[in-house]
Amino acid sequence: MIKKILFKTFYFISPVILILSLLLTNPDQYSDPLIMMTMMMGALGYTWISLQFVLSARPKFIEIPFGMDKIYRFHGIMAVVAILFAIVHAIVNEQVIGESIITTIGTLALILFVLISLLTMLSMTPSFILKYRPFKWLKKTIESWKKFTYEQLRFIHNFTIVAFVVLNIHVLLTPSARNSIFITVLYIVYFVVSISFYLYHKFIKPVHLKNNKYLVTDVIKENDAVWSIKMQSTKKQLKKHIPGQFAFFSFKNEKNKILEHPFSISSSPDDDLSITVKELGDFTKTIGQIKVNDPVFVEGPFGVFSYIAHPEELETVFIVGGIGITPIMSMLKYMSKHDPNRKVLLIWGMNTMADQVAKEMFKEIAAKMKNLTIIPVISKDNTYDGEKGYINQKMIQKLVDKVQINQSVAGYYICGPSILMNLCIDALSAMGIRKKRVHFEKFAL
Ligand SMILES: Cc1cc2nc3c(=O)[nH]c(=O)nc-3n(C[C@H](O)[C@H](O)[C@H](O)COP(=O)(O)OP(=O)(O)OC[C@H]3O[C@@H](n4cnc5c(N)ncnc54)[C@H](O)[C@@H]3O)c2cc1C
Repeated sequence: MIKKILFKTFYFISPVILILSLLLTNPDQYSDPLIMMTMMMGALGYTWISLQFVLSARPKFIEIPFGMDKIYRFHGIMAVVAILFAIVHAIVNEQVIGESIITTIGTLALILFVLISLLTMLSMTPSFILKYRPFKWLKKTIESWKKFTYEQLRFIHNFTIVAFVVLNIHVLLTPSARNSIFITVLYIVYFVVSISFYLYHKFIKPVHLKNNKYLVTDVIKENDAVWSIKMQSTKKQLKKHIPGQFAFFSFKNEKNKILEHPFSISSSPDDDLSITVKELGDFTKTIGQIKVNDPVFVEGPFGVFSYIAHPEELETVFIVGGIGITPIMSMLKYMSKHDPNRKVLLIWGMNTMADQVAKEMFKEIAAKMKNLTIIPVISKDNTYDGEKGYINQKMIQKLVDKVQINQSVAGYYICGPSILMNLCIDALSAMGIRKKRVHFEKFAL
C-alpha cells in the first residue's frame, strides 16, 4: 500500500521538478502567463513521456505492488495524456512564439509519437478507442492494407525511442536549456534514466534471461485446440511463484527466432513448471509443434492475481471463461495441498464440455477438496444437462446462494474473455461485493 502511494505521488508530482526549475532559472521568460502555461504543458508532456520508458521496462519495484496488467494499462493511458499535453504545447507555442527549427523538431517528434501510439491502440491492445466508429473504420482500413503480426507491431512500437531522441534534441535546443547549464543537465538526466531503462529491458535483460533456461519435458494435447507444456529448469530456478501468477515464455520458432509471450503458470508452485495454451494466433497455432527437450526462456513471475495475496479472504469464488482457467488450475492445485478444507466455488463457462482441460487433474483435486463445487456453464450445447447459456448476474447469485458462500469473507477471481470479465465485474458490483474483493486477470497487456 505504502509503495503504491509513494509511486503514484512521485509519478504525478514529477513534472513539478522540471516546471519549478524552468521557472526559477528563467523568471523573465515566463512572466507572460500564456508562455508559462505552454511551458507547463510541455513539461508535463515531456516528463510523462520520459517515464513511459521506465514503466514499459517492467521494473519489479513497480510491477510487484500494482501487477503488470495495471502497469500496462496505466502506460497506455498516460501515453495518451502526455501526448495531448504535448499537442496543446505545440499548438500554443507556434501561435505565441512562431515557427522555428526548434518547433519543427518538436512537431516531428510529436507526429512520430502520435502515429506509433495510434497504431498501438488500434492493433496491439484491446483499447477503449475501438468502441468508436471512426477508429473501428481506421483499424479495418489499415488491416485491409496490411495485417501486422504482434511481433511486427512490437518492432514498430520500438520507434518511440527514435521519437524520444528527437524530442530531447528539441528540449535541449530551447532557450531555457541553452541559457542554463542546470536545465541542460536536468534534461540529460531525464534522458539518461529513461534510455537506461529502455536499454536494460531490450538488451541486458535478454542476456540474463539465458540463465533462466528451461527444457520442455512433456507436450500434452488437452483437447482440439489446447496444449499443456511441462518444463524443467537447466540452470537457475525461476523465483518461486505464487499460484495464479504468469511469466513471459520465449520459445524458438522454426526460423530460430525467439518469440516472447505471456502465459499464466498452470502448475502449482510445488510442481515442475507448466503452461496450458490455447491455439489462437500466429505463435500459439504452432504450440503443438514444440518438442521434448526444446529450450524455453522464462522471465517472471509477474502479477498479483492470487488468493495468496489476500489472506483476509477465507472463501473463494472463481468465475472463468474458456482458457481463463489456467491461473485457477494453479491456485486449485496449491489449495488442494495447503488448504483442502477451503470453501470454493468454480463457475466455468465453456462452449461445450469438450472444451474442458485437465479432466484428470480436476478429478484428483475434487477428491481432496470436499468443499469445492465446480459448475460448468455450457453455452453451445442445448443437450447439456446442467447450467446452460452465458454466465450472468442471476446465475452467479443463484450459485453463490446455493453453495452458501459467505459474502463478507469471500474473494472473487475472474479470468476469461473481455466480455465475460466486464459482465462479471458489473454483476458482482450490483450484488454489493466490495471492489477490493473482486480480482481479475486480463489475457491482454
Ligand atoms: C497475463 C496474461 C496471461 C495469459 N495466460 C494465457 C494462458 O494461460 N493460456 C493462453 O492460452 N493464453 C494466455 N494469454 C494470452 C496469450 O499471451 C496470447 O494468446 C498469445 O500471446 C497470442 O499470441 P499469438 O501469436 O498466437 O497470437 P496473435 O494473433 O499474434 O495475437 C493475438 C493477441 O494476443 C496478444 N499477444 C500476442 N503476443 C503477445 C505478447 N508477446 N505479449 C502480450 N500480448 C500478446 C495480443 O493482444 C494480440 O492482439 C495470456 C495473456 C496475458 C497477458
